[in-house]
Amino acid sequence: MPISQRTQVGIVGAGPAGLVLSHLLQLEGIESLVIENRSRQYVEERVRAGVLEQGTVDLLTEMGVGQRMQREGLVHYGIELRFNGKGHRIDFKELTGGKGITIYSQHEVVKDLTNARLASGGQIFFEVENVSVHDFTSSNPKIHYRKDSQDYEMSCDFIAGCDGFHGICRPSIPEGILTTYERVYPFGWLGILAEAPPSSDELIYTYHERGFALLSMRTPHISRLYVQCDPDEDIALWPDEKIWQELETRLASDGWKLTKGPILQKGVTGMRSFVVEPMRYGRLFLAGDSAHIVPPTGAKGLNLAVADVRVLARAFKAFYATGRTELLNTYSEVCLRRVWKVQRFSWWMTSMLHRFPGENPFDHRRQLAELDYVTSSRAASQSLAENYVGLPMD
Ligand SMILES: Cc1cc2nc3c(=O)[nH]c(=O)nc-3n(C[C@H](O)[C@H](O)[C@H](O)COP(=O)(O)OP(=O)(O)OC[C@H]3O[C@@H](n4cnc5c(N)ncnc54)[C@H](O)[C@@H]3O)c2cc1C
Repeated sequence: MPISQRTQVGIVGAGPAGLVLSHLLQLEGIESLVIENRSRQYVEERVRAGVLEQGTVDLLTEMGVGQRMQREGLVHYGIELRFNGKGHRIDFKELTGGKGITIYSQHEVVKDLTNARLASGGQIFFEVENVSVHDFTSSNPKIHYRKDSQDYEMSCDFIAGCDGFHGICRPSIPEGILTTYERVYPFGWLGILAEAPPSSDELIYTYHERGFALLSMRTPHISRLYVQCDPDEDIALWPDEKIWQELETRLASDGWKLTKGPILQKGVTGMRSFVVEPMRYGRLFLAGDSAHIVPPTGAKGLNLAVADVRVLARAFKAFYATGRTELLNTYSEVCLRRVWKVQRFSWWMTSMLHRFPGENPFDHRRQLAELDYVTSSRAASQSLAENYVGLPMD
């Protein structure tokens, strides 16, 4: 027989979406339980995003989990766009009235959130198996799972599907309810994490004849670098020296030197734009990557996940305070407005900065003209800047 549990909001997934939601609910006195199929160590070491929008930083700070981020995060007020071997700075501070971004790894955010949640008596069950969600068109939805060879049935008022792109919540919604919008890009990113001080104080996005390259960083001692590659590139064909050589070629600029160091991790990531609508079915609410994916060029995935659960927490707060369901009913619509603007921006940055198979010299000239325009027109630079630092939260 399964062991019965009861909570107000059952959360599937202890990524940024699930953990931020659980915190925001706790601050409102709303109970939640989080289940996660990976180990705590695995989620706390999983290297992913690293650029936090101003709004994400502000929210984490308001939630009381921002101390280490404030201490260790690197605040940047611009990025460089590099093409034809020359760099052009987009000055966020000047173009957005003082806003910037913070470089702080996603897995550090996850660590801070997990520590704070557990320290305040919150419950996160790691390494659960056989997760399934049920009865979400009733007023008493349930989550089934197995942990340490014991079955559990968690009954709740609502389920938050924060289980990422490969999770089980989205596929549990019956066929015909969701509409899917998708674009798969004909390239991927080969990314490395290297023990090398970053060769630039700010991120450098490069458009080169051989393809896109990005120089970013995680700390003053660790660089994160990427080159555009085939979507099914075999990483085994990329010894460290070849990766450094490719980065040097694409990032080359007069008088500039790439700092190298031991490569700690390397991998290939596919690129996809993906949205499902609506982000809710009955009492099951999808948030973060379970509902949408952006290509990483705009550095938006984590930020969008946080923006979703901010809206969701507000809707739960209103429901538990007054019994009213208006904000729950508009959850999907409110989130999707931001999701689509972020999709547009991420698609645009990706299209501007990558080489596409089958493109001709006209396309190449057009991309260079676009970069020239973006870096020489105040209106165009400002548009990039306000999207990059993050559009205002609804
Ligand atoms: C390899 C990679 C690199 C990335 N790099 C960048 C980047 O450079 N910049 C950027 O902006 N974004 C990047 N992203 C995107 C960004 O990391 C995500 O948008 C962000 O993690 C979304 O947070 P989330 O909480 O919605 O989903 P996730 O972080 O995916 O969290 C979902 C959680 O649910 C758990 N889960 C899954 N299935 C189940 C289940 N059945 N039961 C219980 N738990 C389950 C997962 O283990 C995971 O912990 C990257 C993503 C990947 C995959």
